[in-house]
Amino acid sequence: MTQDLAETIFKLIDARRDELVELTRDLIRFPTINPPGDVYQACAEFIGNRLHARGFHVDYVRAVGTPGDSDAYPRINVVARREGTHAGPCVHFNSHIDVVQTGAAWTMDPFAGVVRDGKVYGRGACDMKGGLAASIIAVEALLDAGAELPGALEISGTVDEESGGYGGVHYLAARGWFSAPRVHHVIIPEPLNVDRVCIGHRGVWWAEIETRGRIAHGSMPFLGDCAVRHMHAVIDRFERELYPKLAARHTDMPVVPSGARSSTLNINSIHGGHAEQKEGFPAACVPDSCRMVIDRRLLIEEGMDDAKAEVVALLDQLARDRPGFQYGIRDLFEVMPTMADRNGPVARSTAAAIRRVTGRDPEFICSPGTYDQKHIDRVGKLKDCIAYGPGILDLAHQPDEYVVIEDMVTSAKVMALAAWSLLHRSA
Ligand SMILES: [Zn+2]
Repeated sequence: MTQDLAETIFKLIDARRDELVELTRDLIRFPTINPPGDVYQACAEFIGNRLHARGFHVDYVRAVGTPGDSDAYPRINVVARREGTHAGPCVHFNSHIDVVQTGAAWTMDPFAGVVRDGKVYGRGACDMKGGLAASIIAVEALLDAGAELPGALEISGTVDEESGGYGGVHYLAARGWFSAPRVHHVIIPEPLNVDRVCIGHRGVWWAEIETRGRIAHGSMPFLGDCAVRHMHAVIDRFERELYPKLAARHTDMPVVPSGARSSTLNINSIHGGHAEQKEGFPAACVPDSCRMVIDRRLLIEEGMDDAKAEVVALLDQLARDRPGFQYGIRDLFEVMPTMADRNGPVARSTAAAIRRVTGRDPEFICSPGTYDQKHIDRVGKLKDCIAYGPGILDLAHQPDEYVVIEDMVTSAKVMALAAWSLLHRSA
């Protein structure tokens, strides 16, 4: 890109600063809380109407039959596409429009779009309506710059990312919306800071382990078999054998924070015996069941089957060592790790754009948790996908979430330059 064109685009985006703020506020005012998946349709149509007016072809895709989809809470995604002047690759900006619940600790209305001290506040401000707004302004500025644009530009607003993405990117990816020949490069404007390119994320395995015992009177526990004590034995093995093993396993993925560069396992919940009551006394019983949900995070070097087998082997060993030990294990959810090539087109173009806009060297990172890249990679079979967007990941899901206006402006410039250079590659 010539310096003249870059300057033109920068000026166009700077001139749209207020518009970018207003667009972010408009998006925040849709309380698209998931679950249950509120006002998806209205938010999708707001995005679709805006882009339709800019010459985009707009499709609304309802993910019929996916978890949570109903006539009261339809899973409605919007995909907008604008063809260029001649054939070429397609660059797609994908943002999720759903947000998580607010929690109680907000000091302001989370859906008012409060602007204060150079920041826009609201649920979803950083995760990720600020990123969505920046990508829209970036693409509009690119169109207004009058430069010749081959290929196609797409912007989507998809649902349910916060609950696994099955009614959103997964549904679309399974139907070819995120695959060649339709799409070639994807940028997901998740909040990862303006000078970082996120090339992937770790994998996930959630499972429920149950230990079983035998109910008896609590005054004579020796007549029963306590399922909670069996679960204690599981955790004890985790402490002595599994955790040290996981901590010693290191990855080449540039995960931040660096503590997440090892395999990790969180005990998400545990419960045994009768549920605790708020009032009155419990009955004296030996619990015959104890359940625990584990959240195991996988590195790109690890296989899902190996990660599962490691836990099952430990439980099987306990069944041999410990009298009366019986267990069950049930898969709840799994996601494979994913990592794009840091020398691939979208990572390189974005990194070059960061250098040009900020003057700083970009950092390549991976996310400790997952986002929709998994579906684009594993289901859509499209590898050239990264996350890049304004905002600080730590603020996501927190009270008084905000996005810094200057960061949105900066990231819009980076997105515009990255998209331009990707469009000018051969498909
Ligand atoms: Zn997000």
